[in-house]
Amino acid sequence: MTDATPDPAPAARHPQATHDDEHEGDARGPAPAARRGELTVNRVLDRCTTLGPNVRAVIWVQGCPLRCRGCVAPETLPFAGGEVRTVAELADWLTGLTDVEGVTLSGGEPFSQAQPLADLLDAVRERRPGFSAMAYSGFRHEALRRGTPGQRALLDRLDLLVDGPYVAARHGDLLWRGSSNQRVVVLTERYHHVTSLIDTGAGIEVSVGDDGRFSWAGVPAVPGFRTLLEEQLAAAGYVVDARETAAATHTRAEIRGTDERITEVQHRDDQCGPTTGGSPAPGPAGG
Ligand code: SF4
Repeated sequence: MTDATPDPAPAARHPQATHDDEHEGDARGPAPAARRGELTVNRVLDRCTTLGPNVRAVIWVQGCPLRCRGCVAPETLPFAGGEVRTVAELADWLTGLTDVEGVTLSGGEPFSQAQPLADLLDAVRERRPGFSAMAYSGFRHEALRRGTPGQRALLDRLDLLVDGPYVAARHGDLLWRGSSNQRVVVLTERYHHVTSLIDTGAGIEVSVGDDGRFSWAGVPAVPGFRTLLEEQLAAAGYVVDARETAAATHTRAEIRGTDERITEVQHRDDQCGPTTGGSPAPGPAGG
């Protein structure tokens, strides 16, 4: 185990603007004000085949210091928000997922919460030594290597890293990543074969929970996927309600832009049937 002190968060280093794809960036940005042994999470998924090799769990952390134009997960960007989960409870959850071979860390920016994520991987591997780990980052591998002790600790525990910001002008249908500037960096022998895989996207996985809420995970093959999804839902008679509260009482709402969190999808004819809820908290477009 390593020191669980949250990574330093010097506000002066907070990169506010979109940076270009050649710039490595400074990964020592801000982090959520989580306490020792805690992570701030936007969402978790216990089974996914579109964000890394084979079948994996996914954790989307809350908060990213970057602002890539066209980011497909805008609801994960603010450091305020999300749900605080303990490293111990997440370790128990991952350890119990016997049909997954590892976890993919996405967001948001996983390296803004690097130390607790490194601790999480240590805790899982105490019970499942072969548990694999992949992570996304909006920062380049080289910048992360120069980062905080926590960031280097997380890097040292990963098998795969998808690095670099999402650049809409370089969008492509690519394996596990959204734009061609991003790289799949092989960090251990575990997945060395991925460099020989055909470099096309793994698609989008849609799931519907017991409560009727749906979600999707993956890297969209086309830019503007989220807008297209919302338009098609609207054409099918569904309403996307971006309001956080009282959504169940709404029969109409506007389709909002891609920078709004989709919190509820409700059929227009809600008088005669159950609401179909939707919370498409998507996979990453870049980090
Ligand atoms: S694409 Fe990734 S790195 Fe860029 S703003 Fe979105 S979450 Fe952050």
